[in-house]
Amino acid sequence: MASEQDIPARSDPGGRVGDKQGNPLRGEQGNPSHGERGDPLCGEQGSVRPPVDLERVIAEQERIFKERQPGSAGLALRARRALAGGVTSSWQITAPQPVWLSHGRGSKIYDVDGNEYVDLHGGYGAALAGHAHPAIVEAVRGQVTRGTHFAQPTEDALVVADELARRFSQPLWRFANSGTEATMDAVHLMRMITGRDLIIKVEGCYHGHHDSVQVSVTPEPDVVGPASKPTPFPASAGIPDAIIKLTLVAAFNDLDSVARLLDEHRGGVAGMIIEPIMMNAGIIEPEPGYLAALRDLLHAHDALLTFDEVKTGLTVGPSGATGVTGVVPDITCLAKSIGGGIAVAAIGGSEPVMEHIANGDYEQVGTFNGNPLAMAAARAMLCEVATDQAYERIERLRARAVTGLEHHIARCGLAAHVVSAGAKGCVVFSPEPVRDYRGFLDLDDRYSQAHWLFQHNGGVFLPPWGKTEQWLISVQHEESDIDLLVANFAGLAKAISI
Ligand code: PLP
Repeated sequence: MASEQDIPARSDPGGRVGDKQGNPLRGEQGNPSHGERGDPLCGEQGSVRPPVDLERVIAEQERIFKERQPGSAGLALRARRALAGGVTSSWQITAPQPVWLSHGRGSKIYDVDGNEYVDLHGGYGAALAGHAHPAIVEAVRGQVTRGTHFAQPTEDALVVADELARRFSQPLWRFANSGTEATMDAVHLMRMITGRDLIIKVEGCYHGHHDSVQVSVTPEPDVVGPASKPTPFPASAGIPDAIIKLTLVAAFNDLDSVARLLDEHRGGVAGMIIEPIMMNAGIIEPEPGYLAALRDLLHAHDALLTFDEVKTGLTVGPSGATGVTGVVPDITCLAKSIGGGIAVAAIGGSEPVMEHIANGDYEQVGTFNGNPLAMAAARAMLCEVATDQAYERIERLRARAVTGLEHHIARCGLAAHVVSAGAKGCVVFSPEPVRDYRGFLDLDDRYSQAHWLFQHNGGVFLPPWGKTEQWLISVQHEESDIDLLVANFAGLAKAISI
């Protein structure tokens, strides 16, 4: 198993600096490593450059976007009469309008206007299998004809649990239907086992939409408080103040901020939930040794550690961030990609932790837990799709994407860099690596929005909310898909490097 020092290769953004002429995304003028004078693939470079009019770039791309999608516009209008806000989840309200899809196959998805997209959205990181993967189709088709719901276990659940145990080094598992349910069970378990009410979460991490973790997810700069001791702030309406008070907030990559909370609330903290690689703020990687030290620190205070691997599990590698870092927490939460496109979640834990479920201290329940359709899909995903060969293929595509994007960043002298982890990756529009949520807050999200639009209009569907989200390379993507991503980025680089 890899050690925490062995986190996969990522780009080195070092050396790029902001533009002294006023465009924060341009490299320093006159430095030959930052853009090439007169390069037709970059913008015109005079001796004095005006700042790029980003609003104009975005407005132009939005115009093209809408022109290409009259069918989506029509459905969006109709939907307002039937669906609250015109969509089925609030994060589907993309700007300038929601995109209505008709179908997907392989690495592609198609909208109702017949536009084809290379799908790097992956349904917010769930479609690691791509679309209509033969193994998933076969598994689901087979189970549909044998019954889709019993609320009694089927043998597939055993195979899935064994395979998860092998990959994530947790001996015992239960199932649920969404990441939200898995992290909710984890928080309940930590509280029940320790008999304590307080939990710690990281500023900027998203763990689903249950009350305890709807705290300091994307707080605005005016409410965040001091960086070393972030102020807990509700992430949604409808969360009682009394619940918010039970969630303490620490900074990512900052052990001291956790130590301070543990000291301040001595004997009161049940545990901490964390995305081991932050993936709701672009991608922010743990510094070497951070996760292992965090686990030791929590254990020294008789508190537990939960890894929320809902996004990272199976995508950053065959054994998620646990495999990449070598750090095994007390509790592991999985969802998204493990179901091969069917809704399923899993919660795994050490024997002492899961003993409390086994003996009935904590009732982990749900009508659809271990649903046979979901278990059949998860079994196919784990045993036939997420194979060693698939990860080798993904690694080649990851490297191709990073090299291609970095080429255009350097060529046009953009103060940006690429971060990637297995199948996940993103362009971060800043010269320096981002270490925590405060660094992420400093990023100008108009660049990510412009990037999203350029990709979209060029036939690549990246996840909406580009600043927060990452691409997902599926097992069915090909080199030509990655080449289109890079070519579209070249168009953006030219447009924003006037
Ligand atoms: N945890 C993480 C890290 C997530 O990114 C998400 C969703 O994006 C969740 C939990 C919640 O998962 P779900 O949307 O399946 O409830």
